[in-house]
Amino acid sequence: MTYRQFHGSCHCQAVRYAARFDLAAGSNRCNCSLCSKARAWFLFVRGDAFELLTGDDVLSRYEWVPAGRAQAGLTYRFCSRCGVRVFATGELAQLGGRFYALHVPTLDDVDRDELANAPLNFIDNAHDRPDLALPIPD
Ligand SMILES: [Zn+2]
Repeated sequence: MTYRQFHGSCHCQAVRYAARFDLAAGSNRCNCSLCSKARAWFLFVRGDAFELLTGDDVLSRYEWVPAGRAQAGLTYRFCSRCGVRVFATGELAQLGGRFYALHVPTLDDVDRDELANAPLNFIDNAHDRPDLALPIPD
């Protein structure tokens, strides 16, 4: 595991963040109805590995309660100026409590070849089986 600091932003640059993660651990696609609509591509980091640098005042939120659930699993945050989804956040014991799901296309300083060579995991939330491919960072 090689943890490095990376930076990301929305298109208009109002929202900027820093996060530490192991790029070699890979990223994720999900087939739930929301991820399909948003063409979501994300990467999990623990809460203490994420820092919002700017843009808290322009971030809007979206929450969705899937059928059969009592509450929303994630809060999706997107820039109210340019509309880019930047990350989602939630709580999960497997990830040590609070976690962030970074929207991979918002990362500004990842090496694109390194990203392309990292594993891409597919999470089957469309069939309520997120356990099938959930990578758990150390
Ligand atoms: Zn923006």
